[in-house]
Amino acid sequence: MSAFRTVLKKTCSLFCASLAIIAAIAQQNPVEQIKSENPFSIAIAPLRFLASDELMGRATARPEIHIAARYIAEEYRSLGLKEFKEAPDYFQSFAITMNSHGKSGTISIQDKVYKNIDQFIQVEGQNLQSSAPLVYAGFGTREELEKLDIRGKIVISKMGYTDSSKWRESLKDMREKSKSIQDKGGLALIELFRPMGIDWGRIVQYFQNDRPKIDEGLSLPVFLLNENPANLPQNQTMNGQIEINEGQVKKIPAENVVGWVEGTDPKLKDQFIVLSAHYDHLGVAKQPKLEEGKLDSIYNGARDNAVGVTAVIAAARYFSAHPAKRSILFIAYTGEEIGEIGSRYFSLHPVIALNHLVYNLNIDNANYNDTSIVTVIGLGRTSTDDHIKKASAAFRLTATPDPAPEQNLFDRSDNVNLADKGIPSPTFSLGIKTFDDEINKRYHQLSDEVGNFDLNYALRYIYAFILSAKYIADDPLQPLWISGDKYEAAWKELFKK
Ligand SMILES: [Zn+2]
Repeated sequence: MSAFRTVLKKTCSLFCASLAIIAAIAQQNPVEQIKSENPFSIAIAPLRFLASDELMGRATARPEIHIAARYIAEEYRSLGLKEFKEAPDYFQSFAITMNSHGKSGTISIQDKVYKNIDQFIQVEGQNLQSSAPLVYAGFGTREELEKLDIRGKIVISKMGYTDSSKWRESLKDMREKSKSIQDKGGLALIELFRPMGIDWGRIVQYFQNDRPKIDEGLSLPVFLLNENPANLPQNQTMNGQIEINEGQVKKIPAENVVGWVEGTDPKLKDQFIVLSAHYDHLGVAKQPKLEEGKLDSIYNGARDNAVGVTAVIAAARYFSAHPAKRSILFIAYTGEEIGEIGSRYFSLHPVIALNHLVYNLNIDNANYNDTSIVTVIGLGRTSTDDHIKKASAAFRLTATPDPAPEQNLFDRSDNVNLADKGIPSPTFSLGIKTFDDEINKRYHQLSDEVGNFDLNYALRYIYAFILSAKYIADDPLQPLWISGDKYEAAWKELFKK
């Protein structure tokens, strides 16, 4: 063997050894792992399927939604995700009630008769015939109700809890009131409408449409009456009669799709990071419409929110191969577009106790107008900002906060139901620099399709989502709300801090 050959051999073995070391480092680098587990065509396939015309816009009440659910479940199965026993086959199944309220009927108070729709509207309950004493309860606060005997009676109260209540808040107050009244044996609640940021015509419209909901143990009939309290004989015994006809109740089957990957750290694995996205969308338009020269009727919802579910599946693919320290729960919600129904159901019937769910990174989308950023609704509100910023930067993306806090987007998507319970729950969205015409061009439009979606950007967005989740799931510190956030008190209560 010549000297030259020996040198060559030595150089080569040195070179090969360094290559092997580089390869080994790359294998442990989560950025490289995320990319190699999710090459473009595999990562994007669920987006193409879920947003296809064949799924007819995935409306919660359409049969094709169950094809989408089955597809997501079989993706989970093929990736080896674990099942919860409360969600066999990955399906958390439940019923949604579609309640279209009575179109005719009357409410009589003493000798005054009010007509359905014209002067009152049914908010809760079905067809009914009832005659009973009425009792006036002011605002119907807990203290006011406490002082009254309401068993077997119809309660009348002003809308909201105070003179300054806003109408959306007052709907929440209404739920609380009706629960108290039901618990005390009352028969029905009639709230006196006040124009608190909405007029009578719009409130009628709001309640006249089908009202999808889940069974929350509330069965008290509730009405809004367009009448001034001064016109009613207060604090006297009054008699009332309620008659409602032509209402219809329909029940439809629904399912959230849930699976999980166990964490590797013996202590942290009892804590779960929830990765969620809704898989339903708007279905099919009543009339075909011409959009950008194309006659169309299917709401494909590629951005809203097939890409979100695609990211959750890609995350499942990554974490099943490379588990994090904490456990990860993957959930695709149904019924978001009809009022965040799936996430509400999950928050009331979590497949594992809520105090095991330490964080939720949700995905929901309208459209994007800047492919150099991701928009995180809730950035600046939890302790996880640095992880999300670092993860986004690894894929040449800048994480930016909510561009329009006045629109209160944080409280208008699925994340709000877990946030309400105290769980820090930002929503990870495609880049929105400002809410402008460019966003509205696709938001809830027929043209929200794969064909006009920058898929290379979609892929980097998906990768950044997975890496954010990885950093948060490995951090020994439990995520929390920044001090003073409106959900901080609920967090303290849930986690006994
Ligand atoms: Zn939507």
